[in-house]
Amino acid sequence: MSNKIKRFFLPESEIPTQWYNIQADMVNKPLPPLNPATKEVLKPEDLFPIFAEELCRQEFDQTHRWIDIPEEVRDMYKYYRSTPLVRAYGLEKALGTPAHIYFKNESVSPMGSHKLNSAIPQAYYCKQEGVKNVTTETGAGQWGASLAYAAKLFGLEAAVYQVKISYEQKPYRRSIMQTFGAQVTASPSMSTRAGKDILTATPSHQGSLGTAISEAIELATTTPNCKYTLGSVLSHVTLHQTVIGLEAEKQMKMAGEYPDIVIACFGGGSNFGGMSFPFLRHNILEGKKTRFIAAEPASCPKLTKGEFRYDFGDEAGYTPLLPMFTLGHKFTPANIHAGGLRYHGAGVIVSQLLKDKLIEAVDIQQIEAFNAGVIFARAEGIIPAPESCHAIAATINEANKCKETGEEKVILFNLSGHGLIDMSAYDNYFAGNLVNYSYEPGENAK
Ligand SMILES: *Cc1c(COP(=O)(O)O)cnc(C)c1O
Repeated sequence: MSNKIKRFFLPESEIPTQWYNIQADMVNKPLPPLNPATKEVLKPEDLFPIFAEELCRQEFDQTHRWIDIPEEVRDMYKYYRSTPLVRAYGLEKALGTPAHIYFKNESVSPMGSHKLNSAIPQAYYCKQEGVKNVTTETGAGQWGASLAYAAKLFGLEAAVYQVKISYEQKPYRRSIMQTFGAQVTASPSMSTRAGKDILTATPSHQGSLGTAISEAIELATTTPNCKYTLGSVLSHVTLHQTVIGLEAEKQMKMAGEYPDIVIACFGGGSNFGGMSFPFLRHNILEGKKTRFIAAEPASCPKLTKGEFRYDFGDEAGYTPLLPMFTLGHKFTPANIHAGGLRYHGAGVIVSQLLKDKLIEAVDIQQIEAFNAGVIFARAEGIIPAPESCHAIAATINEANKCKETGEEKVILFNLSGHGLIDMSAYDNYFAGNLVNYSYEPGENAK
């Protein structure tokens, strides 16, 4: 047995006690959200009817660099954190690269992805503020499952609107949500006015995140003691996800290395920001030169082919106007298997950082993503989520460049989730049924 260390663990006492708020360190702060009707700048209070108040304050906080993690949240983080930092010796060998590859394994959370890192604090703040019910939308079900579990932890009722086509095609995540006591409704449904209107116009509507968001927001605003929650895109969600990067920073120290490149897949930006921002602060404050690469699907390339402008966060246009890289809020992404990456826009912090060239983005085709996922599975024994496969593909591309140049770069990527409930996607890959999609601008792309 060699003395090479494979996995780096932090003791419970080293789990972060504060989240990192990069807004405090940004030279160019994100532009403010606007009221779509009046174009007035929104304040935290304007969002109180929809979200827990503390989450609204976190959303707008551009001054406090560190935000305390409540003790009750830290107690629940201990159920699965710290997550291991793993040196990917198997992948390095399979690629024949001199690069040192590390990954942070967020797939070990009880729900199989990083989403629980934000579901727990969101449910906690709702409970603190006397809320009884929480509601949300979910596509493939990663976020809905995490919220269902977190709601149960704090004694809240959860109502989840799941995109109808996913409700039918992904029965196991629905079962998981129901196991934790959530009420799951296929969207569009007859239970809300928004749903009724959509179904009256289009009786066979298969649903989208846009329809599900509209229904969940309507439920939250028309039900006493009910708040809406969101699993990505918003700045407070990314704030909670910084536990990933803060742990990774300590674990890289244990490994005696510092990353030259940090990579994560990109849906709305929460796992990318959560992994990157704690390292990016050393670029901003100390002039370190780490590169940060967001890996998005080629069929939904808001970072590489979108425009930076104000746009709505949802299809129906219920949300505030947000300054972001977007493909247009009416853009309907192709039906790729990485459901968590099918979103038209990027969070406001990441958008500003990309505009200022502090981070980079690459787009990855669906088949390339699964090729990478299978190489990784065979080398490291973990079947990655289709979303995470995009980060792995970008990592392999960088590691192959090192092979050409002989450079021993240190590459760190986030394994955002496992793919054990997505095996039908792998079946389709092995059957040769997967296709690549090229990006076609949406009707509302301008
Ligand atoms: C939701 C999800 C993503 C994408 O969301 P981000 O907010 O961009 O991190 C990526 N990977 C997995 C496993 C997910 O569940």
